[in-house]
Amino acid sequence: MRTKISLFLIAVLCSLNGVAQKAFNKHFEKKSLRIDFALSGNSAFQAAAIQQLRQEPVWGGPVKNLTDRFNYGGYYVNLYDKASGELIYSRGFNTLFEEWRSTEQAKNETQAWTNSVSVPYPKRTVVMEISARDKADMQFRPLLRTDIDPTSIFIDRGQLKDNKITRIQYEGDPSEKVDLVFLAEGYTAAEQEKFIADARKFTESLFDTPPYTSRRKDFNIWAVSLISEDTGTDVSGKGVYKNTALNSGYYTFGVDRYLTTPDMKSIRDAVWNVPCDAVFILVNTDTYGGGGMYNFYAIGTADNEQTQHIFVHELGHSFAGLADEYFSSEVAYQDFYNLKYEPWEPNITTLVDFDSKWKDLLPTNTPIPTPLNNTHKDKAGVFEGGGYLSKGIYRPMDHCMMRDYAPFCPACSRAILRMIDFLSDKPY
Ligand SMILES: [Zn+2]
Repeated sequence: MRTKISLFLIAVLCSLNGVAQKAFNKHFEKKSLRIDFALSGNSAFQAAAIQQLRQEPVWGGPVKNLTDRFNYGGYYVNLYDKASGELIYSRGFNTLFEEWRSTEQAKNETQAWTNSVSVPYPKRTVVMEISARDKADMQFRPLLRTDIDPTSIFIDRGQLKDNKITRIQYEGDPSEKVDLVFLAEGYTAAEQEKFIADARKFTESLFDTPPYTSRRKDFNIWAVSLISEDTGTDVSGKGVYKNTALNSGYYTFGVDRYLTTPDMKSIRDAVWNVPCDAVFILVNTDTYGGGGMYNFYAIGTADNEQTQHIFVHELGHSFAGLADEYFSSEVAYQDFYNLKYEPWEPNITTLVDFDSKWKDLLPTNTPIPTPLNNTHKDKAGVFEGGGYLSKGIYRPMDHCMMRDYAPFCPACSRAILRMIDFLSDKPY
């Protein structure tokens, strides 16, 4: 009887699988539509506007998991079939611009930043919507809605620079694998071999870190060799400016160790012909620093002694939407979390809706919040302090990769595994 039920279940799952693939083939071609758009505004308001549309030759994202139920990030891109109104694709993401909006500077200045998302290439006219999460109530509201006709002559179909692409690891069809792309930043023409060696070293440290250890076969790893004129990166606070491929630098928002780049266009230009679910920008310097924003990019330095951990930490932000669990370091943000609501990140809670977080991972009889004593110290709990605040936000374990480079806590581990499932097109 049991065999019959499981055979029946397998038949149902197989047919669902077929239905999902049919949905992709009905609505999309296996290419990408790249949408570059400006986000402009200040601390009080923001607006979005299209900058360019491009048809690009590769779609390495899922073909079954077309709509994103994670509810992560500050923005969503949604595609609706114009004729039926049906939601046919969605994906959440963060931007550096939204972090800038919570800085002191954004109270006095208005700026515009370039952002970019890639979606599967539609077969018929779609309504493309970019929505933003309103921190006042955590709900998404449309910022921009526009029709996109895939046959339009206003979609750029040109080739871009054919950079050297190295397969560090290839495990199979990009739609069924997580495609992680390393980009070279601050490596001169003479330093390209070092870049490939660095990318290999980082790949090994990723797969030495649980829970990635058990899922190596779900990843393809690529390295794109970009040539910079100068070695290193900008250190604007010390008057150092380098001519590099992706225009990165320290002192983002005035914080010395915060290494980022606002140049999303150059990043997307670099991955135009490679399957890409996640980007890691490898910066050829040894100074401590890095950054990572969910489904945007992560960045870190090649030669700092802590760099292997920084890499895995920053990838935690960009790949799995994890929050920082620390609460004592200097950051430039103000009121980053609204304590009246549950944050969207899977590894912190305000206890407003803890049931939606890691409650099922707690040992039985764990008090909520959990006192940091010998009974609970090295187990899953709900410990006060996290997300840059020592009060009002709680983390899942005393120590974690997202706090101080300890092993990932159970909540973070589960979030990473779910994202691997989503991007390798398994049920999630
Ligand atoms: Zn954690």
